[in-house]
Amino acid sequence: MTTRHPSFTPRRVAVVGGSLGGLFVATLLKQDGHDVTVFERSSRGLARRGAGLVAQQDLYDVLHRLGLDQAADVGVVAAERITLDRSGRVVQRDRTPQTQVSWDHLWVTLRELLDDDEYLLGHRVEEVRSDDTHAEVVCDDGLVRSFDLVVGADGANSVVRQFVAPRDHTNQYVGYSTWRGLVPEGALDDDAAAVLLERFAFYNGPGSHMLGYLVPGPAGDTGFGFRRYNWVWYRPITAEQLARIMRDSGRSATDQSLAPGDLPEFLRDELRADAVAELPTAFAAAVVAEPEPFLQGIVDYVAPALTAHRVVLTGDAAAVVRPHTAMGAAKAAGDALALSDALGRWPLEAALATYDSDRLEVARAVAQYGVRLGRSLPFAARV
Ligand SMILES: Cc1cc2nc3c(=O)[nH]c(=O)nc-3n(C[C@H](O)[C@H](O)[C@H](O)COP(=O)(O)OP(=O)(O)OC[C@H]3O[C@@H](n4cnc5c(N)ncnc54)[C@H](O)[C@@H]3O)c2cc1C
Repeated sequence: MTTRHPSFTPRRVAVVGGSLGGLFVATLLKQDGHDVTVFERSSRGLARRGAGLVAQQDLYDVLHRLGLDQAADVGVVAAERITLDRSGRVVQRDRTPQTQVSWDHLWVTLRELLDDDEYLLGHRVEEVRSDDTHAEVVCDDGLVRSFDLVVGADGANSVVRQFVAPRDHTNQYVGYSTWRGLVPEGALDDDAAAVLLERFAFYNGPGSHMLGYLVPGPAGDTGFGFRRYNWVWYRPITAEQLARIMRDSGRSATDQSLAPGDLPEFLRDELRADAVAELPTAFAAAVVAEPEPFLQGIVDYVAPALTAHRVVLTGDAAAVVRPHTAMGAAKAAGDALALSDALGRWPLEAALATYDSDRLEVARAVAQYGVRLGRSLPFAARV
């Protein structure tokens, strides 16, 4: 726990969103002595849905403060990084091992620190209201509850963001997207498995940036045979093409992502044909092995401010950073630590002002880093 101001006051805090970012905030603030309630729209919880996280320092710091250092030990180790050329030849090799921490294990470990009445499933927040004395959470079932502070940890399409930044809450599509897949390692043919497994692999082609690595199995299993191969294929897709894919998938043209199972068969077959035509054989095999590829449009967003009255933004609600940074979860962890520290040290108004200025600077820096990384993609000049 952080140093407390002599007039430390335990607060009633609502956290909107119960993914990793929401759990970082809720568990730290609970440990600090605040009264927390998480509102999560999913009715079944998020266990068994994540994959592997490339962990960074802020993530380790949160776990350390919670006394959970060992939670980051559960993961899959990639022994080296390789880059393939179009023919499948390894053109670069870097023997730096890296661990992909189990998202599920982390989520379950953090969730266990909260009681069931502190983590409300099936509660979609429709609106947040606030003045300088309190904040209210309004759920879609009509439930309205009042708190001293509301924390938005509700991700890239945040409802809470609309209160904090009513005139500037829209993500900007950047002109490329990722096709993604997560296949049981046993679904890869022997040749592809020999090239791809146990390592981080990359390929850069004229219209492609592809990477793939092993992640734990659905329940966090890291044993041989239980792991999954996670592939990520970045391709330039114009806003018009993305809108067409959404419409063809029965979604609104303004949507920017498709979940597993959303993609119609004819588009999946087109993707497979493109993979065979454009990728090294091992990566093409990984794409073909995925029955339900999913899509994530890459967007940029940094909120103009992170607080308004008694409402605070954290994680992806505050700023969406490009996946190349591998810092989404770490940034959310850093936000949670900063909020905990500020509330422990300062009266509420000063705490929120400190959080706002400190974390907005970090959000801008990480977002700009992501934009710079995006410029180094092989197709950057076309987007
Ligand atoms: C299921 C899942 C799996 C992930 N797996 C990985 C991974 O393997 N590797 C990786 O690097 N990153 C992963 N991420 C992303 C990573 O966790 C985030 O970048 C980072 O943790 C910060 O995200 P966040 O918690 O701010 O937002 P998100 O992870 O997007 O979570 C937002 C949460 O808010 C909930 N929510 C949204 N709107 C509302 C509402 N109106 N009312 C109530 N609840 C709402 C959502 O259901 C979700 O649980 C995953 C995210 C999710 C949700």
